[in-house]
Amino acid sequence: MTAPDWHALPIEQVVEQLDADGRSGLSSVEAAARRERFGPNVLAETSGPSSLALFVGQFNNALVWLLLVAAAISGAVLEEWVDTGVILSIVLINAVLGFVQETRAERALAALEALSAPEAVVRRSGADLVISAAEVVPGDLLVLEAGERVAADARLIEAVHLQSDEAALTGESLPVEKTTEVVAVRAATGDRRNLVFSGTIITGGRGLAIVTETGAGTEFGKVAELLDTEQPPTPLTVELDRVGKQIAVAAVLIAVVIFGLGVARDIAAETMFLTAVALAVAAIPEGLAAVVTVTLSRGVSSMADHSAIVRRLPAVEALGATTVICSDKTGTLTRNELRVQGVHVAGADLTVGDIAGREPVADPRVDRYAEIATLCNDARRADAAEGDTGVIGDPTEVALLASVDPGRVDARALRAERPRLDELAFDSTRKRMATVHGDDRGGRVLLVKGAPEQLTARCTHVETVDGPVRFGEEFRREFADAEAGFAERGFRTLSFAYRRLGDDTAEVEHEEHDLVLVALVGMSDEIRPEARVAVEVAQRAGIDVVMITGDHRVTATTVARDLGIIDEGGRVMDGGALREVTAEALAGEIADLRVFARVDPADKVKIVRAWQVHDAIVAMTGDGVNDAPALRSADIGIAMGSGTAVARESSSMVLADDNFATIVDAVREGRAIFANLKKVVYFLLSANISEVFVMLVGFMLFAGYGEPLLATQLLWINLVTDGLPAVALGFDPPLPGLMRRRPESTHHILSRDRLTRLLGQGAILAIGTLLAFAVAFFVRSHDFDHARTVTFTALVLVQLLHTFNVRADGSTLRRVGFGSNRLLLYALLGSLILQALVIYTPVGQSLFETVSLDLVDWITVAAVGVATFLANARIMRTLSASGSDVRPFARSARDRES
Ligand code: ATP
Repeated sequence: MTAPDWHALPIEQVVEQLDADGRSGLSSVEAAARRERFGPNVLAETSGPSSLALFVGQFNNALVWLLLVAAAISGAVLEEWVDTGVILSIVLINAVLGFVQETRAERALAALEALSAPEAVVRRSGADLVISAAEVVPGDLLVLEAGERVAADARLIEAVHLQSDEAALTGESLPVEKTTEVVAVRAATGDRRNLVFSGTIITGGRGLAIVTETGAGTEFGKVAELLDTEQPPTPLTVELDRVGKQIAVAAVLIAVVIFGLGVARDIAAETMFLTAVALAVAAIPEGLAAVVTVTLSRGVSSMADHSAIVRRLPAVEALGATTVICSDKTGTLTRNELRVQGVHVAGADLTVGDIAGREPVADPRVDRYAEIATLCNDARRADAAEGDTGVIGDPTEVALLASVDPGRVDARALRAERPRLDELAFDSTRKRMATVHGDDRGGRVLLVKGAPEQLTARCTHVETVDGPVRFGEEFRREFADAEAGFAERGFRTLSFAYRRLGDDTAEVEHEEHDLVLVALVGMSDEIRPEARVAVEVAQRAGIDVVMITGDHRVTATTVARDLGIIDEGGRVMDGGALREVTAEALAGEIADLRVFARVDPADKVKIVRAWQVHDAIVAMTGDGVNDAPALRSADIGIAMGSGTAVARESSSMVLADDNFATIVDAVREGRAIFANLKKVVYFLLSANISEVFVMLVGFMLFAGYGEPLLATQLLWINLVTDGLPAVALGFDPPLPGLMRRRPESTHHILSRDRLTRLLGQGAILAIGTLLAFAVAFFVRSHDFDHARTVTFTALVLVQLLHTFNVRADGSTLRRVGFGSNRLLLYALLGSLILQALVIYTPVGQSLFETVSLDLVDWITVAAVGVATFLANARIMRTLSASGSDVRPFARSARDRES
């Protein structure tokens, strides 16, 4: 059965065919029944890779293939079946561990996706509910507002200046005007202007629509391939990938050279093959990728516990490297609990008490104020279904409605009596809102409220006790002074105006002229106390805090000073100047600008770009449709949990509590996570480097006797005795002073400088290990099996002790705290016990070809362990004192000058 041509049917027929209710929507019982019948409103069940695929995926890497070949040759050619068994078991254990970790990471990501799943507003049983978009069913009434993504295909039954962006579906980049009128049957999808489509975005106005199709039945469902939900790689994983490939190539080259050398010296090709394999195993950091993923996803879930929902994994790293935070004012730095503090009307300053006074006063200024505050306002008092308490809506409008005493003006009755005939919703670019109503004389009246400079320029008259008079120079000065007074106290300011309309009225936007100014309102919005602290923390951490607001410049200045964002005399740029300045000029002065006032959200991109010229890592907040481009171009786009769906979808992090302090907390967390990732990477790489050195030098010096270490022993070290401490390093508590340092770049964490250092550290570990070999072989036993066991154990021990140097990273262990990472101590103990099992149990001895060590061996091993530890600590401290690669992040021009 084909679906009816919904666009060609009159509304009544649509309602009837869908068995819907165009006023109050479906009942919850009916919605549940339809949900059962039609299924969830999703394109396809996206369940991620199956468990089997994840497990099989573990075997798909070059190292595993190499090991499998080695296992086969050990068995079939050399008849070393024990080796074959050990290698195969290790491959299997590695796969199981990788599988477990990846499953955990997948689960964490799925949980995150669920947190940021799309939502929809539907009207059911007369109440507007926010539900998961998946729960929307045919027949539901969708409540559409600017900034929302349409959850299903639907037929409009109400559309007030409704516009939608259908680029995702039709490729049309201009917004499409929507209507409720019937459209010709044959109209193309893009011309069916009385329909809204799943996946498109409402860019303006508001509307109400009956859902006709959900899930795969929608237009979007018909064209959509499987949605791309894959997480982009993080800069760190890209870097690791690059270095990993270099290491693999180097390992293969070295292995080939060693093989050639050995064969040239008449060593059996089979032995040389095993040595070459062991060398390749030594070089490749097998556990690295898994530990990095686990550490990152653990960080993501810990941030989610603190109201910062990371939507893209790279954000975790970028957060740690943030150098600039550009924040909206209202709601993020302030509480967004506005309150009317004063109203200025021609010739008088009124208090809220004056306005709300229950005795009706015959003062047209107050009557008009109450009329505009009530009618040109989308906030509403909660009804019985919502508990009858409070006022619901945009906080600015809530405050305005609350300033009118319900005993004086019954808002609901007044709105019913004088319904809206037309309107232009508030938007941050126009900075005003207008509605049209019937007036008391049988005509029509336009009511406008908005930013004072937007209105006063359009006013020719002003309302006085005796009615409208000309808005002359004197009145203009009076209102300008009143505005300055409010702004200096940090108040948000707003003006009210109106005009009686003639019969031949045009579109609302062409009628906003010759207005009568009624009042200027000053509203306070308290600063969040925690924001003040967070601003200071951020500044101490070398992060520039920038405030961007739609409010008046003086209001912005007062609030920014109060927050400590600027000092006395700090520069403020206006939206107008921002629009005019060239990108180059802005980049030149951006470092001196901390406050932007009366900004159009669309111009925020310019601010982001100007900072990025200076290599800054920019975090930018936003909540509206027009904020989306800025959120996308910032390094970390941060959307408000209370913001529009479009803003959330364009962001890499969502603040569930809208709070600036949460951003700074997330930065701290990001820094801690990144510091730990570095430790994990540095530890594992220096361990691998030490193994390669031991194999290379050992082979050159003692080639006649055998391989210094067996492939199985190296696998054991890389996957077991190193694996436990590596995971534990990921849990390292942050170093003190984490937020008292400048931001560090996350690019090139494996700079040439750093790699040289790792080579040095690895070399020292190898020297200690080879010393232990020399003592055991030449001084003591002359027994190669014994000496190899000592070498094996020495290598384990020097690497385990090296974790402390990695933790300190150039600082002193005393400062870092020897026991501050309990988990690491347990991991080290665990690794030692496992190593003892390998040396002392018959099974361990036969699998890894080890022998029991005596006390002198342990003293030797311990001595080289301590010696390498001290030598490395010394060198790392000297190097970091000379500060070779701990270069501060390229910062603002001003910093570079000073
Ligand atoms: P911030 O950036 O500080 O969060 P904002 O950018 O959200 O603030 P807007 O909401 O765009 O600021 O408000 C800018 C100006 O528009 C306000 O100073 C006020 O004068 C006016 N304004 C705000 N809300 C409304 C509204 N609902 N109706 C009419 N005018 C409004």
